[in-house]
Amino acid sequence: MGRIVLLPDEVASQVAAGEVIERPASVVKELIENSIDAGASRIEVAIARGGATVIRVVDDGIGMDRDDALLSLERHATSKIRSGDDLARIHTLGFRGEALPSIASVSRFRLSTRSHEGLEGTEILVNGGKMVSVRVSGEAPGTQVEVRSLFYNLPARRKFLRSETTEASHVQHQLCLQAIGHPNVGFVAIRDQSLLFQAPPAKTLGDRIRDLRGSELFEQLLEIQTEVLNGITVAGFIGKVGVSRSTKAEQILFVNGRSVENITIQHGLREGYHTALMKGQYPVTFLFLEMDPEAVDVNVHPAKREVRFREPDNVRNSVAATIRKTLETDRRRWTHSFQKPVQTPEPPKTSVRGQTVDPGPPLISSAEQFALRRDWADFHLRPDHVRPRPIEAPSSSKCDQTAGHLPAPNYCPETPNEFKILGVLGKLYILMENQQGLVLVDQHAAHERILFENLRRQMESEGVPTQRLLLPLTVAVTPKDYDWIATNAQTLEKMGFALEPFGNSTLKIDGIPQYFRTDDPSVTIRQLVDELRSMTMNTSRLRMGEDVIAKAVCRHAIKANDELHQPEVEKLLRDLMDCELPYCCPHGRPTMIQIGYSELEKKFGRKT
Ligand code: ADP
Ligand code: MG
Repeated sequence: MGRIVLLPDEVASQVAAGEVIERPASVVKELIENSIDAGASRIEVAIARGGATVIRVVDDGIGMDRDDALLSLERHATSKIRSGDDLARIHTLGFRGEALPSIASVSRFRLSTRSHEGLEGTEILVNGGKMVSVRVSGEAPGTQVEVRSLFYNLPARRKFLRSETTEASHVQHQLCLQAIGHPNVGFVAIRDQSLLFQAPPAKTLGDRIRDLRGSELFEQLLEIQTEVLNGITVAGFIGKVGVSRSTKAEQILFVNGRSVENITIQHGLREGYHTALMKGQYPVTFLFLEMDPEAVDVNVHPAKREVRFREPDNVRNSVAATIRKTLETDRRRWTHSFQKPVQTPEPPKTSVRGQTVDPGPPLISSAEQFALRRDWADFHLRPDHVRPRPIEAPSSSKCDQTAGHLPAPNYCPETPNEFKILGVLGKLYILMENQQGLVLVDQHAAHERILFENLRRQMESEGVPTQRLLLPLTVAVTPKDYDWIATNAQTLEKMGFALEPFGNSTLKIDGIPQYFRTDDPSVTIRQLVDELRSMTMNTSRLRMGEDVIAKAVCRHAIKANDELHQPEVEKLLRDLMDCELPYCCPHGRPTMIQIGYSELEKKFGRKT
């Protein structure tokens, strides 16, 4: 007797539903996507008890006539594709024809819909996949779907639902995602009869982000200057340097209007941010990619969360290039215009047990091998005496923000880009004043950034200078490492290594990069090759050298406790401002922090 039987339709539907509908948030996603595909301009979503008891989605889209409404509940019934060929160029969010029947098979389901031309609407009730009634209804044009008692007939799945709050927060995340993905659609979100948010149709994505996420986050974002690269348009907003999260929760990615999770885009983001991101941190993004639908396969996952790209390298490179460019355009946020303190102190003399000693050569120039070959002749410090001194306290709109009863300061920056150096705190933090308030610069982090960019420039052009070894070394490596080194010989050379094959998986090392300090180059080179090899999978060759440089500069940059003189401080700041990414060190930590007047006022209790 045969062991194999065909499952009853009902069970088969439940099995299939399990793939698409994981939790209330999946129902919300599928229903909103249907509303968007139906051209809705307003979508209202209400849930009760985390969506486990009620989910209702109402739209003003094209609606359905009676026949379509009935068909929409059949498995694999869709208005969105007609043939297998259409699968290769999907323009809509849905295409599988599975969501409505799946939802209806695991809930008490009500569909009420009316097309705009229709004189009357249709209401269909389904319980656990069984049609209960079909009748005429008198709703407004559009579609309403009500899903009650989700998974009531699938106890195994219902048991896996988390607490009401958790499920509600998943729903809320989904709602937010969809609202951000479709700014021109108005959204109303209700939870247990209270309003979660209401987002009127927005003119721009920026308006929608500000509406939903608040101005505080919005101000930390940079708008991408949209460009088409390799046939891919990358648009949206990304976090400024230093704005990141410890999870991917704020990493919102859309491909052709569809919210996706995708490793290729994530690699592109990481590469684009590169040194602007701390280890273990994720960028904040509202990234929108548009490309030919034929270049992307959306038929990968039943819940349509994942996509595959025909040319993943193109996508990764376009994302990386766009991110990098956007971050770099922000470098003029604080431009380079510094003012000396009112009284420029003499270089300090250090007192050792009552004796005055000369502080010795300035510390920055002690790192002479990294001499920062920047031409800063164009830089003008305005001498103090030519500057008229205002009487009022500084402010955001010219000079009246603090409505201060403070003693009149003797300095008021004339533009938002001007700084006055106040001094150095704890031999580490350079204190400056600008129009917004206090600015603190970490001298070590700042110098790391400067050295890093300088070395990187060298690596990209003539190559980093090599320090010849007195006695060449030979190092035996594994055949795999040997092959890797042979393929990447050019990059290693640009990084300052002088290596030669010596036969039999042995290398001869004649020179190492000047910035490289090691007692045993052969051990260091083996470690380096290990590290680099694991990196090359997902990063471009130049980027791989950057990581090595980033590590090396940390050892060479001026440290906390290295006392800097006034001209050195000025030069450091000027060089920092000339960097491509001045706001973070090569490890992604901030180089400078602004503490605004309003923050100071809050701390002093002058303002709540
Ligand atoms: P898919 O979206 O993959 O086509 P669904 O099961 O989600 O499959 O929906 C089936 C069909 O029902 C859709 O193709 C569409 O024609 C119709 N439909 C679903 N929801 C709506 C809606 N809100 N407004 C108008 N038509 C809808
Ligand atoms: Mg659908």
